[in-house]
This record gives sequence, C-alpha cells and structure tokens, in this order.
Amino acid sequence: MISKAAGIATLLLATVTSVAAQEQVLNLYSARHYSTDEALYSNFTKATGIKINRVDADDAGILARLKAEGSASPADVILLVDAARLYKGEVDGLFKPVKSKLLDDAIPAQYRSAATPEGTSWFGLSTRARVIVYDKVKVKREDVDTYEELADPKNKGKVCLRSGSHPYNLSLFGAVLQHVGEQKTEAWLKGIVDNMARAPKGGDTDQIKAVGAGECQVAVSNSYYIARLLRSTAPEDKALMEKVGIVFPNQQSWGTHLNIAGGAVAKNSRNTANAVKFLEYLASAEAQNYFANGNNEWPTAKGVKVNNPALQAMSGGGDFKAETIPLAAVGGNTVKVQQMLDRVGFR
Ligand code: FE
Repeated sequence: MISKAAGIATLLLATVTSVAAQEQVLNLYSARHYSTDEALYSNFTKATGIKINRVDADDAGILARLKAEGSASPADVILLVDAARLYKGEVDGLFKPVKSKLLDDAIPAQYRSAATPEGTSWFGLSTRARVIVYDKVKVKREDVDTYEELADPKNKGKVCLRSGSHPYNLSLFGAVLQHVGEQKTEAWLKGIVDNMARAPKGGDTDQIKAVGAGECQVAVSNSYYIARLLRSTAPEDKALMEKVGIVFPNQQSWGTHLNIAGGAVAKNSRNTANAVKFLEYLASAEAQNYFANGNNEWPTAKGVKVNNPALQAMSGGGDFKAETIPLAAVGGNTVKVQQMLDRVGFR
C-alpha cells in the first residue's frame, strides 16, 4: 500500500520531470559573429525565459552541417548573411516555412522569400549596399557611378573584384540580370573581365586596400566593410579612406544593389514556436537596432531607423536610391549567372 506522503512525492517528482523536459531552449546556427549579438540574445532570454544554445560557423559550413545532420539536426533557427545563400537553403529544403503575420507585416516583401501556401521560408533582417570604391586622384567619379561602367572600355585595366562566384557577387550579378536581362548581363560580365587589373582574389576589404596600394583604381565592396574602415582609428585605415571615393551606383536608374542578412526556421526544428518567437523578436525595433548596427547595416523592418554616423557619412546623409526588386528573384538567377561566369572566364 502506498502511503499518502509517498503518493504526493511521486506526483511532485512527475511534475518536476515534466517541467525539466519542457525547459525552453532554442538551438541557433549563426553565421554572424558580432559582439553586439550577445546583448541581442541575452535580452531575448530575459524577456521569454528561452535559453539560446549557439553554434557559430560560416554560411557554407552551416548549410553543409544541416545537410549532414538531416532529420537528426537539433537546429531551430539559422542566421545567414547573403540572399543567394538563403535562397540556396530554401531550394535545398533546409528550412521550414513560417506563417507569422507579425513577420509578414514587419519585413517588406522584397526582403523575404516568395510566400507559398505553407508560409515564408526566410526573412531578411538587415541590408547592406554593394558599392563602388575608386581612387580619388586617378578616377573621375562620373566614370564609375554606375555598375554598367565597370565594363566600359574607359575603365580598362583598372578594376579589382573578388571571385565572381562569391555569393556577394552572385547576388549583385543576379540583380543586374533582373534589371537588364540575360544578353546585356553576359556582355557586361565579359566587359568586366576585360577591364580587370588583376585576377580576382581576396575579400571585399582586400579590394579596397588594392585601390589604396595602387594595384587598381576601381573596386566593389559591401558597405559595412567601408563603414568599419571609416570608424577605424588605425592610421593606415585613416590614410586608406582619405585616398578612396565611395559611390552608391545607379542613382539615376534602378538604384544601388542591396543584399541582406536574414533568418529561417530549420526544417527539422523541434522548438518551432520558440524559433518563430525568436525571428519575431529580431524584427522588433529594439533588436533591429542591435542586429543592423552591430555590423553597420540598415534595418529591414518597416519604420525602424538607426543612427550610425559612418553609414550617414558614406551615403551622403543616408538618403540614396536602392533597388526594389525582390531578392527571391535575385537568388533564382544565381544558377544562370554562374553559367555566364564560366562562359566569359570570370573566376
Ligand atoms: Fe561579409
């Protein structure tokens, strides 16, 4: 016969066990590594009680890991830093579409995946501009104020770029394809190859430094690398940024190309409700400030503005014309673009 006390003890134990089993967690795979993100995550935990376990890797590493883990993956939320990669994750079936009125209302349609009856696969959470950098002494600004002019014979032997197959360039080229069509895009890519000062190598910052070192006179870079150099107190960075001019291209036509960093819920997430809650939190005004400003980017959520003097300075007061095409379409163009790169010999 079980005593009343033992019965209560058993009941208590059962209650404790089920509370432990329901401890609220979120497994985050992130390609972002900024110190301000720590505050972002701890504020979420404070507000919701949901503990975040974070795995840091680069975008390609995260996509490979998700594939390898398959249905055993513990991942709940994925943060990636390029539209072409988010699109790839969607096409490879690594994400679980989300239905959230809050996210659909907050994030403009051009910065999220195409909605299906199942929901939306990914959401852009910050934007970065792909801008042109030039040698202020040797190059006239009006000769490099459009992407088209990167391929113009007047800039022969002057252009430095990172690999054409890097997602930042694939997304830019995919955007150009969306704006001007296939024929003009392939001719343009061929023209850029003809204008190169050297074979593609290095990252965006290396291209800016190559302009500073006189190896080339025109380069392309994401805006946050420039903002980082503008905010740097190192004498060599200050000297470099004195030498170079910055253009937000295509102000008279379709606008400067914007890329995104964004998030998605993992296909096999076991904490889907928490995952959606986290993405919704990232779209809030408070989180958008940390998320965008931490890497000198612009927020995507409607009505949210950041006060970032470096961004203001480089974009001439912060007002510039940005393209308005959907990044989902840009992602969809990357396979075609890669084939063009192969044909024109753009490494
Ligand atoms: Fe980057």
